[in-house]
Amino acid sequence: MAGVCVAGVSVVPAAAGSATAATARTAPATVKAAALTEVEKAGAEQSGAKKAGAKGKPYCARYKCIALTFDDGPWPYTPALLDTLKKHKAKATFFLLGRKVEHRPELTRRIHEEGHDIGNHTWTHPSLTTLTDGEVFEEISTTSEIIYRTIGERPEYMRPPNGATNSRVSALMADLGLPQILWTGSTLDWQARDTKVIAKRTLKLAKRNGVILLHDIVPETVKAMPGVLTALEKEHYKFVTLTTLLQGRTLRPGQIYPPRGK
Ligand SMILES: [Zn+2]
Repeated sequence: MAGVCVAGVSVVPAAAGSATAATARTAPATVKAAALTEVEKAGAEQSGAKKAGAKGKPYCARYKCIALTFDDGPWPYTPALLDTLKKHKAKATFFLLGRKVEHRPELTRRIHEEGHDIGNHTWTHPSLTTLTDGEVFEEISTTSEIIYRTIGERPEYMRPPNGATNSRVSALMADLGLPQILWTGSTLDWQARDTKVIAKRTLKLAKRNGVILLHDIVPETVKAMPGVLTALEKEHYKFVTLTTLLQGRTLRPGQIYPPRGK
C-alpha cells in the first residue's frame, strides 16, 4: 500500500497512547463516514460486555478459558475453521496479514461478524527485528489501516511474526499503541503437517488461560480442530477471544503478553 507516511513514526508522541490517534489521520474521510455505523454498533456491544464484566468477576476468573489463536490468514481454509468454531460456539483470535486481508475482504468480515478477534500480524510477515524503524511502522500501520477499511475497527493488539521482538520493536509498538501478543504454547503445526500430531500437541499444551499458537493456513490444523474442540469441551474449557481472556487487565502499548518465560 502506497502513500502511508513512514516518517510519521518519528513524530508520533508516545503520550498519544493510542494507534487511533496516531493513524486515524491516514484514513480517508469517506471510509470513516461509511464505517461509522458499524463502529458505533461494535462500540455499544463492547461497552455492554465491559459493563457486564464490571458487575462480577471477569469471565475467565469464573470459567476455565483458553484462547486459540490462528495466524497468517485469511486463507481458503479459514471458512472450514469458522464452520467448526461456530458448531462448537467457540470464539478465537485471528492474527491477519494485511496483504491477505486486501485480497479476501469478505472472509475478513466474516471472521469479525462471527465474533472472533482480529489482531495485526503485519503486511508481509517479516521478522520486525530485521527492519528499519520506518519499515516496521509501515508494516504495522498499513495492516491496521486495511483492517479498519474492511471491518470498521482497528486491531487493538499485534503479534510479531515469528515472535521476533526486542526493546526497539517494543518501543515502536508503544508508539503505535499496540500491545504485543505472543503465546503460552506453540504447536509448530506448520512443521508437523499431520492432523493427529497437531491435535495431540494442542491438547498437551492446553491449560487454563493458555494462548495457543496455530495456523489456519495449515490444512491439517483446520482438520484437527473438530476433535480438539470436542476433547477440550469434555475438560470444561471455554474457547474465548483474547479480549475476553484479558478482561479486567489493561495491557500497556508495547507490552508483551503473556510475559515471556511463563
Ligand atoms: Zn505468522
